[in-house]
Amino acid sequence: MKLSDLTLDRDGLIAAIECADPVFNEALRQEAFRVKLAHAGTDVYLRGLIEISNICRKNCLYCGIRRDNSACARYELSDEEVLAAATRAARQRYASVVIQGGERSDAAFVRKITRLVKAIKQIETDSEGGRPLGITLSLGEQPREVYEEWFDAGAHRYLLRIETSNPELYRRIHPQDALHRFERRLEALQDLKAVGYQAGTGAMIGLPYQTAADLADDLLFYKRFDAPMIGMGPYNPNDETPLTRSGAPYPSDEERFVLGLKMIALLRLLMPHINIASATALEVLNPRGRELGILAGANVFMPNVTPEEQMAKYNLYDRKTLLRDCPHPGESHKGENHICKNCVFPFCSLGENLQNGKITIGFGKWGDAVERQR
Ligand code: SAM
Ligand code: SF4
Repeated sequence: MKLSDLTLDRDGLIAAIECADPVFNEALRQEAFRVKLAHAGTDVYLRGLIEISNICRKNCLYCGIRRDNSACARYELSDEEVLAAATRAARQRYASVVIQGGERSDAAFVRKITRLVKAIKQIETDSEGGRPLGITLSLGEQPREVYEEWFDAGAHRYLLRIETSNPELYRRIHPQDALHRFERRLEALQDLKAVGYQAGTGAMIGLPYQTAADLADDLLFYKRFDAPMIGMGPYNPNDETPLTRSGAPYPSDEERFVLGLKMIALLRLLMPHINIASATALEVLNPRGRELGILAGANVFMPNVTPEEQMAKYNLYDRKTLLRDCPHPGESHKGENHICKNCVFPFCSLGENLQNGKITIGFGKWGDAVERQR
């Protein structure tokens, strides 16, 4: 297949997803990077990721922090730890934070998030326009009143992945009970929009049972939902989960990685203005994964600011490969991401593009896609 043959309807997307030709894949990624520069600019926006807790009431069959995984050591960050992480993000001029965690809706947890959102808004920043930190929440399905309470407290973006837009596949990767219903997930996404959030969504890529048509439908779902931001990434197995233990086959690491980049590139062509995250799950499959995600058309990067001890317990999947050193001489810090004097680790090897101005780091900027579209 040639790039000039690509059409962005369902059949065209399926053909592109199925095409294994490395020449086509490289041309597609380059075209997506060009479209990103033209419509979303050179900036890569930073969101400091705070993994607040791995306690979850749900039991998604693919997730390492699912309720019934007794091998998972549970933690919950204290208010002080969350505020210290957000302060660190502000000092590093990330301008925004994402609070993500297992799904809980007990009153104490709901109040805690409200309290923390209000407190984070008080943290001093030197962001563009004197703005406080932008806050994205990613805390699963909640009653609409809870979404409203958190929005009123100051959160303005919410990330809730649909996981897959195919209801049948959704059922295969979730328990069959009232807590895990595709229709409820959709309703929650609509609630988020109605409350006023910039509602982001996404799906896993390379799941067992998933077809090229499912992936094409995921892309078309994002377009129909008119999502201003998408966070999608490769499925990575966790040995303690029923999905891995079932032995159901899924694409190889290399195939999932190539698919992950391809989905970013196709989405950039479909929705040129939106924010697309370069997911941590890419980095698990390739040490330069998130950089290559940026070069394939993504424009959001989420440095992890969770204290390292707890970060290791947020094991949706095996993340050991993320603990690597910054390659700059004299900088010996280890960990998922840090800012060193010379770079935004792990972006050091974007070198050439950082130097020629094709990639700039959006320090101090919220970087909302809706603003770009106005
Ligand atoms: N609990 C919230 C939720 O599910 O929306 C937010 C946290 S949850 C850990 C964030 C995302 O992790 C999920 O939406 C899911 O797509 C992803 N995830 C979980 N297990 C995964 C796996 N084995 N491989 C890749 N992504 C995974
Ligand atoms: Fe809980 Fe989210 Fe994992 Fe599902 S994906 S088990 S809701 S943390």
